[in-house]
Amino acid sequence: MDPHKKPLTVKCPTCQQAVAWIPEQAFKPFCSERCKLIDLGEWVMEAKRIPGDSINLDDPLDEDSFFQ
Ligand SMILES: [Zn+2]
Repeated sequence: MDPHKKPLTVKCPTCQQAVAWIPEQAFKPFCSERCKLIDLGEWVMEAKRIPGDSINLDDPLDEDSFFQ
C-alpha cells in the first residue's frame, strides 16, 4: 500500500460530508442511502407541489345534516 496515495473523495450533495469514491460506496456521490432518498424526495416534492393549495379536510361530508 502506498501511504501517500489518498482515495478520491467527493462531497455528499445532501449533507456535504466527504464520501470516498470507492466501489464499496454503493450510494456515491451520496454518503448513505438516506441522503440519496432525501435528495430524490426533494425533487419529487418539488414536482408535486401545487401552488395555492389550501384544501380544507376538516369538514368532510356530514351525514346528519345531508338530508335536512
Ligand atoms: Zn450525506
